[in-house]
Amino acid sequence: MIQFEQVNKIYPGGRMALENVSFGLAPGEMAFLTGHSGAGKSTLLKLITAIERPTTGKVTIHGQDIAKMKRGDVPYLRRNIGIIFQDHNLLMDRSVYDNLALPLVIEGFKSSEISKRVEGALDMVGLGDKAAYAPIQLSGGEQQRVGIARAVINRPPLLLADEPTGNLDPKLSMDILRLFETLNASGTTVLIATHDLGLIARMRYRTLTLRQGRMVSEEVAL
Ligand code: ADP
Ligand code: ADP
Repeated sequence: MIQFEQVNKIYPGGRMALENVSFGLAPGEMAFLTGHSGAGKSTLLKLITAIERPTTGKVTIHGQDIAKMKRGDVPYLRRNIGIIFQDHNLLMDRSVYDNLALPLVIEGFKSSEISKRVEGALDMVGLGDKAAYAPIQLSGGEQQRVGIARAVINRPPLLLADEPTGNLDPKLSMDILRLFETLNASGTTVLIATHDLGLIARMRYRTLTLRQGRMVSEEVAL
């Protein structure tokens, strides 16, 4: 699903964000990506979504070489990747329903199919009764679950999360991780970037660790 081969990423200005990074994530796998602030986690995720391109080395996603992708191919790539952010980027003045429906409206789905999918996704995250609420009326944990429902609404085979539990307490963080496990169990490949080592320690998943841009090990660096 994801293949990095000797990837270097140097930003304009000379900052080496990733150095000789090689790893693979197989379809159906779930893994953590960890490392201190500045270690290169966000950069690695941006290479997967083709927001950034590798300076040297090769990034392959769904069998596609990111460096060889044309600009017009990028939306197709992104359609197959669900992304979850710490601050979830919800439209606060629209209903939960509208937040979830919007990507499907843009893709031209029929409204009957949209409501079926929105209801299915909200049920999955345990918010079946909150469709008419605005995100601002929900708790932080509920807002994050709306963000997850939105990320998976078109059933992407790959789900990326960037510090998805950054603003949540341990109990809510665990609930969010259980949700990722549910999605993973239904076949979604999941990569979760986090510096929450407590959370990682409680789960038995493969852990990729970055230190100053290098993949130091597949164990947690404590
Ligand atoms: P993390 O997500 O682990 O905190 P990042 O990937 O955001 O790490 O950053 C890795 C390094 O690259 C840091 O030194 C950061 O300052 C630098 N960096 C990130 N984005 C840019 C950019 N757009 N331009 C220049 N340097 C950047
Ligand atoms: P259908 O598959 O008939 O469209 P639903 O959308 O209600 O029906 O979903 C069926 C099952 O899949 C439910 O158990 C639901 O919780 C779960 N589900 C819903 N959305 C997703 C999703 N994006 N990824 C994985 N499972 C999902």
